[in-house]
This record gives sequence, C-alpha cells and structure tokens, in this order.
Amino acid sequence: MNIIHVLDEETISHIAAGEVVERAASIVKELVENSVDAKSTSIKIDISADKNAVTKISINDNGAGMSAEDALLAFRQHATSKIIRHDDLNEISTLGFRGEALASIAAVSKITLTTKERGASPEAVKIVIHGGEIISQSTVGAPEGTTIVVEDIFYNTPARKKFQKKVPTELSHIYDMVERLALSHKNIAFVLNYQGNERFRTYGSGETLDVIAGIFGSSFSKELIAVSDSFSNIAVSGYVTKPGCRMKSSATEFYLSVNSRQIVSRSIQWAVREGFGTLLPVGMYPSAFLDIEIDAHDVDVNVHPTKKEVRFSRERDVMTAVQNAVYNALHDEDIFDAHKTEAPKEKISTLDNFVCDPAAVYSPAYSPPLKQSRRTEIQLRRTGVVEPAETDVYVPEVIAQIDETYILAKNENGDLLIVDQHAAHERIMYDLLLERIGMGGQELIVPLPLKLSRKESAAVPDMLDILAEAGYVLEPFGEDNWIVRSVPVISSTLGSPEVIHEIIAQVMDDPSKDKEGVLDRVLKTAACRAVVKGNTLLNSEQMNRLLRQLMATKSPYTCPHGRPTLIALTKARLDSMFLRT
Ligand code: ADP
Ligand code: MG
Repeated sequence: MNIIHVLDEETISHIAAGEVVERAASIVKELVENSVDAKSTSIKIDISADKNAVTKISINDNGAGMSAEDALLAFRQHATSKIIRHDDLNEISTLGFRGEALASIAAVSKITLTTKERGASPEAVKIVIHGGEIISQSTVGAPEGTTIVVEDIFYNTPARKKFQKKVPTELSHIYDMVERLALSHKNIAFVLNYQGNERFRTYGSGETLDVIAGIFGSSFSKELIAVSDSFSNIAVSGYVTKPGCRMKSSATEFYLSVNSRQIVSRSIQWAVREGFGTLLPVGMYPSAFLDIEIDAHDVDVNVHPTKKEVRFSRERDVMTAVQNAVYNALHDEDIFDAHKTEAPKEKISTLDNFVCDPAAVYSPAYSPPLKQSRRTEIQLRRTGVVEPAETDVYVPEVIAQIDETYILAKNENGDLLIVDQHAAHERIMYDLLLERIGMGGQELIVPLPLKLSRKESAAVPDMLDILAEAGYVLEPFGEDNWIVRSVPVISSTLGSPEVIHEIIAQVMDDPSKDKEGVLDRVLKTAACRAVVKGNTLLNSEQMNRLLRQLMATKSPYTCPHGRPTLIALTKARLDSMFLRT
C-alpha cells in the first residue's frame, strides 16, 4: 500500500523553508526523527569519523518500513506521509512533516536505504542514491524496519564541507540530540555507538529516571525532585533539581518537550526559575527534565527551520502551568525547612556587593509623622497586618527600615534578612483573599458608580460569578453603567475604577475560561493593589507585625507572583566576608 504523495503547491507554500542539513548532527537528527515517526521501539545509531569529519552515519530501526514505491518517493522534495493539506499543520503529532529531509540529505551525500514494510511483501527493497541520483534498486532479505546508511557527507558541496565543525563538536551535538530524543521518547530503546563502541543506551522502559540515569549516571536521581501537575488542560511532568543541590550557571541542563517534541524555550526556562522563586540562587539554573502535554491545536510547530522552537497560542497559561508545577513540587517536600538551613548559603551570592550605609538606616525607635502613620496603619489593618494569633512560628527580629522600602531583620542564627515590604505584604494579603474566596466581599456603604467601555460591559455579565467569588459584586445600572456594591476589602484602592478596569481586563484576556486560573489572577491583582508599596514609612511595631503575619503564611519566601519576599545574608557568609574564617 502506498502512503506517500507529493504535496500540493499551496501546502508547500505554507511550510517554512529551512536548511535541514547544515551539518552531520542535523542529518542524524532528521533520520532518527524519521525512525521515531515510523513508530519504532528500537533505534540503533552508528557514527564513524576520521580525524577531520564524520564519515558515516547509520541508523537502523524496527519501525513501519516502506513499500518499494514509497521508498523511491521518500527522496522526492516535499514528499511526506505525515500531512496531506495545510490544515494538517494545525495539528501535528509527528516530529517530521515537511517532507524535505531525505531529499536534502540525499542531495549532498551517498545513501543506501534498506527497508521492509511491516506486515507486507516478504522482500525488503534496497536503494542506492548518490547526490540525489538513483544508482541502483534491488530486492534483498532484511528484517522489518529501515536501515539508512549515509556516507561521503557533503562530498559534492565543498563549501559546506569546509564549514563543518571539528569532530568532537559534531559528536557533542549528536549526543545531546540523541539524549533529548531519548528523554522525549522514553518508550523507545536507543543505542548510540561511536567507532563501534557503545556510548549511550536506554531501554525503552518509559521511565524518565531510567533515561536520566543513562545520561548522567544513576546517582543523579538523588538530586532531583518529581514534578507532576496540570493547569488549564496543560499537563507538566518530570524532574527538577532539589533546592540546595548543585545548580548550574546556565540553562545547559534544561530538557523540555512539548507533546514529545524536544524544544528550546526561554519563556519556559523563565517559568521554571520563577517556580523556584527564592529557592534558586540568583543567576543560577536548576536542571530540568520536563514534559508538557497540551492540545495539538494550541501549539504551532512550524515556526522554526529545524523545528527547535514552537509557538503557543496560550503561552501565558503554559508558563503558569510550568511555574505552578515546579512551585508545588518544591513545596510538597517541606522544602522550606531545608531552605532555612541550606539555601541561604548559596543565595547570599547575590549580596556579594552588599554595602550597609548607616545613613540610610533608621533606628528602631524611630516613628514616622503622625498623619501619615495613621493612614498607613488603617491600610495595614484592612489588609491582614493585624496583631496575629499566637503561633509557634519563629519571627525574625526587626532592626530597621531602609529607604522606606526594605525591612532589615535578624534571625535566631544571627543571619541578616532583608525583606521587601511590598512583596511580603502581598503574600499576606493574597493568602487572606484565598481564605475568603466565596465568602463575599465587604459591602460599600455608598455603592460606587462605574462606567465601563462597551466591550467590558458586554463581557462583564459572564464574569459576575468569578468576580463575586473574589469579593467584587457588580450590578447593571443601564447602558454601560454599573454599580459596585462590594469589594474584597474596603481600601482606598480596591474600589477605584482603574483597579476594577484592570481586574475586568485580567478576566477578559484569559481565553481559556479556566475559572480557577482567572480567579487566581484577580486575587493577585487585588492583593498587589491593596497593600503597602515601597516608599512607605513603617514604624518598628508595624514592621514586626508584618513579619509575624508573613511567617504565618504558607509560603513566606515568595510573593504570589513568585518573586522573593526576603533575602538572607547568613552569619557564616558575614564571617567569611570579614575574613573571620
Ligand atoms: P518528513 O519526515 O517530513 O515526512 P522526510 O524526508 O524525512 O520527510 O521523509 C519522507 C517520508 O519517508 C516520510 O514521510 C516517511 O513516510 C518516510 N520515511 C522516512 N524515514 C522512514 C523510516 N525510518 N521508516 C519508515 N518510513 C520512513
Ligand atoms: Mg523526516
């Protein structure tokens, strides 16, 4: 049965052109991806090189194989079995789809292809092609599957041959690529031989840790923590480095896959680091092995010549999903206990240039002017910074406020802590709002008239439920006029039209209609708007209350957006900075 056909012009024009075979490593990539797409469960890669260049690439798989006619068609430009029309580009589940790799590779090398279609004719077909010209075609005996041997790479394109990197560089690309493919296809057994010696092997067990052990050795799993979570129909699973374990100074150990396609994504890297928050020393990166599963319609894979990058239609949701998954994984393990003793050792690297300017520090007895302090006090009391119930939580001792923005404190170990008062207050307020979900807001004595744009007004009826859960009760008042009856907390900002417009915009901009996620964003916005900003003078009793409330929250070390609330300069670090050790 023939399954390969030449694409129509329109589809071809929809496919971004790209140099698929710029180097030996990219040839290996295309061939191995074809074996994966052919549903192989075992893929064997053999690489040979002389001292100048990779001389031979051989890929053997036990996949679907091809009929004799398909085997010839496969080498035509834009010949593929994976898509039929350009609509199919919206929903790609195979690694390849452009139908140009084999043609491009054949054009610049000498290829021998042996293939036998699964469950079809008893004979395999063998085709030899030199520089795109068919040299011979014959039937032979061979097991089901496909073997492709590529030799004399770039023999007829001397310019490209000259630009090939040294063999070790090429090999490191090949190893990296095969490792990534093995990680995104844990059910396939891969073997990679170089000059006849085995360099890498996986067993197709389906277990991520087995593949990681194949790459980094089996003891590496001790340094990892499992991630498994989903948000808005986006599933995230895998492993990241445990806080306190060896971190890297760049993102070299980020292994990401989206629907089993390995990708590079700066925004996902960012989301992983956000998920770590303060558990990650500044400027450092964890190792991450993460698989993201998302509806194929939400990913555009046809945006990069070698398909290394993808575009998400719901990028923000993907980032939230990754950030939350990492965050939750780290919090499951009671990591904050470890954080107190281990993480700060690393973290203080941020403070290497820490200079304490005595002139900027207020004495603990200092009190701000009365009028301003009353307004701040009212704001604090309305937003959770009240005398806390008795708790056993240790609260650091306030030393001073710096620049009306940071609180200096010390803990029982003599570590110096620097707290961002806004971020800390945000965490307190956010937790408070979370507790109050669905309990109704606080009714305004004088309801607030609110003029919305036509677009907002049309969207608001659908979001009344979510708004009410967050504490905002709105009622229609004719045309595009509305009345705000209650807000989460009666504060000088939460009922202001700007903040309500912002909150409505948050809901409108979330096409997923994922209720929890939207509500969460509303709460984060409300928390951010209601609490004290930087440049607000606090007296020591207020700072003390703020720290007490902060320590009583579930995640005192990060604000709801994942930014740090406090940074620690450990006693040990101070000692070493003063050359006491
Ligand atoms: P693409 O992968 O984009 O479809 P290629 O040029 O890489 O384009 O391959 C062309 C076609 O050849 C594929 O669509 C597939 O049908 C067939 N093919 C290539 N390699 C294999 C293989 N190892 N096993 C089975 N079929 C293969
Ligand atoms: Mg391909």
